[in-house]
Amino acid sequence: MAEWYVKEKGKTVGPITNAQLAERVRSGAVTPETPVSKGNSRWVRAGAVDGLFKEEGPSFHYVCPYCGHAVNPPPTRCDGCNRSLSSAFEKKTLSSAPGSAGNQKRGLFGWMRKR
Ligand SMILES: [Zn+2]
Repeated sequence: MAEWYVKEKGKTVGPITNAQLAERVRSGAVTPETPVSKGNSRWVRAGAVDGLFKEEGPSFHYVCPYCGHAVNPPPTRCDGCNRSLSSAFEKKTLSSAPGSAGNQKRGLFGWMRKR
């Protein structure tokens, strides 16, 4: 059973469970720069802990319109279906409102139908 300690604003908080630590990451209380310690091990940056910030990253990411595979910012080649994605894809994708996955999805699908 993993027990974690975190240093928040100079105060040591813990022991807390994996789930509680993940919740603090989600809430923003723990950042990649926050010192954390698992059990009695040494303090490390939370960003160095495997998996802790895996779901973090750019709030906007690109998805292949053909197969749904996550891709690098275009122009690039999709690892999933091996199609090249043009900068036209980038322009269309960026024009949709960020922060709303639903809008992004509709924008992508609309673009697919047009093609
Ligand atoms: Zn693809």
